[in-house]
Amino acid sequence: MSEVTRTVVVRSEPLPRRTFRIFVELEGMYRNMVEQLVLHAVNSGITKFTRLKAERYREVRSLYPQLPSHYAYTACQDAAERAHSFLRLKKMGKARKPYPEVRSVSIWLDDHLWRAEGLISISMATHRGRVNVSIELNKHFLRYVNRGWRLASEAKVKLDHRERRLIFYLTFKKEVSEYRPKAYITVDVNESAEAVLIDGVVYLFETDLSRVTLGYYYRRKRVQEKYDSVYGPGSRPERRVFRRLSGNEKALKREIRQKLAALIVREAARRQAAIVLERLGKEPAKGMIERIKDPQLRHRVYQAAFKGVQRAIEEKAREYGVPVIYVDPRNTSRVCPIHGAEIVYGGNRHGVCSKGGETWHRDVVACYNLLLRALGGDGGDAPSRLRALIPVDGGPVPLGPTAAHEPTGVPRALWARWRSLRPIMNEQMIEVKA
Ligand SMILES: [Zn+2]
Repeated sequence: MSEVTRTVVVRSEPLPRRTFRIFVELEGMYRNMVEQLVLHAVNSGITKFTRLKAERYREVRSLYPQLPSHYAYTACQDAAERAHSFLRLKKMGKARKPYPEVRSVSIWLDDHLWRAEGLISISMATHRGRVNVSIELNKHFLRYVNRGWRLASEAKVKLDHRERRLIFYLTFKKEVSEYRPKAYITVDVNESAEAVLIDGVVYLFETDLSRVTLGYYYRRKRVQEKYDSVYGPGSRPERRVFRRLSGNEKALKREIRQKLAALIVREAARRQAAIVLERLGKEPAKGMIERIKDPQLRHRVYQAAFKGVQRAIEEKAREYGVPVIYVDPRNTSRVCPIHGAEIVYGGNRHGVCSKGGETWHRDVVACYNLLLRALGGDGGDAPSRLRALIPVDGGPVPLGPTAAHEPTGVPRALWARWRSLRPIMNEQMIEVKA
């Protein structure tokens, strides 16, 4: 049994000026408390909430007697966390300033400071008494409510000064227990696609993650050249464009990874299957991105295409109670899963088994070898269990869209609209019948 936590953002309706002013005052007082607490905590090397509260709660509490006392309490929690991460950065020599700046504030709330009034409004305790604000319902929020998630008492609220709204960060929790796997779904990730072995078929889902990373890299370079020549290096307009570009890049990659992870995890949950992933090292282990010379860029491609993809799957899997298994990734695409002999690759992703002479797609080989390792085989001597799964007679197998050795490619434009694999599975059924 483990607890899964998700944060959901909910906005209030735009507030009347007079009401919003109450929250502006509240934010000011809260910020002031946090600033004082952080200063004290950093000066005395305090990183624990309990100690900070013991030493300073009374003092900050007396600053604003009209404010509900729990704000002083949550300000201590907030400040302790800020001090903790600042002191850690300082230890690593990464802190740029002697003290942490309290720049953006989200007010930490506990069960005394807020409560949901049904689904349409939130009541908050303030220095002017309780204030009710109506919230805008969104799909995301309703999905968690309808699927049996429990709304936790801790929350945060931020002020949107431009639109005079409150932005709530609500926490949903759920107890999930992992099932015992009845089957395996293996996932082999490469820089532009994820190969997934489900029910004896390898699907190759295009992600184009490295192309996204590289595309934005070159766009940034062009922007830099242009702005540097006009404004000089590191100008404000240049930084603004950079910020927008990297925001867009992050959002696009996150969407790609999360959508595909959700698709894979739902299929696993439907079959009560475990997901098998490669155990990745710290460094880009795969030769495929070594040709990228810039080490930072290589790191970004690796993070987006390998680490990031795995993290998205892990996170989604936890939510559905899907077990995740890690296996040794070495040589997963080099050895024939049927004959245990080396596969000789030409210039592309297709290779020929040096023993059986059959043709293999690299990602199909990797998927089957991951399955072998999950089943306990060492990849050298294929257990009969697997041999039964791969329809091959040992002779040369022609490449074709329905051959077991060729993955079923699925472009992103297609899978991004799916909630399950049913569309493609139905298509295969029709093909088989015909
Ligand atoms: Zn072979």
